[in-house]
Amino acid sequence: MKIEHLGIAVKSLGFSDDLFAKLLGRENYKKEIVDREGVATSFYRVGESKIELLEATNEDSPIAKFIEKKGEGIHHIAFGVDDILFEIERLKKNGFIFISEIPKQGADNKLVVFLHPKSTNGVLVELCQEIS
Ligand code: ZN
Repeated sequence: MKIEHLGIAVKSLGFSDDLFAKLLGRENYKKEIVDREGVATSFYRVGESKIELLEATNEDSPIAKFIEKKGEGIHHIAFGVDDILFEIERLKKNGFIFISEIPKQGADNKLVVFLHPKSTNGVLVELCQEIS
């Protein structure tokens, strides 16, 4: 396991891409829209981890709701795992609650699931596994 990426909710990718390019001294390496989730994403490499900027593409998007409630900022922490199905079972046995227990295809060529923040100290936790 490693911290694969941190997801940051932003109002405008246009603005925040400029900001993060200056902050990190490099351009994003990928932009991707995930229609099903209602998000546009932009990725930056930081060592062996990444920053994922997330902008809502419609007002029903989870990112739109997050920003409405909490404002811009850190949205989730994503742990990279080798066997997502094994980790889901392991965590369920340990009492963790998932938003959905079935991995879905997310951005950046990954299978992803999210744990419910109420079982993880208020932090939205993503597990992701590279699709080979
Ligand atoms: Zn993510």
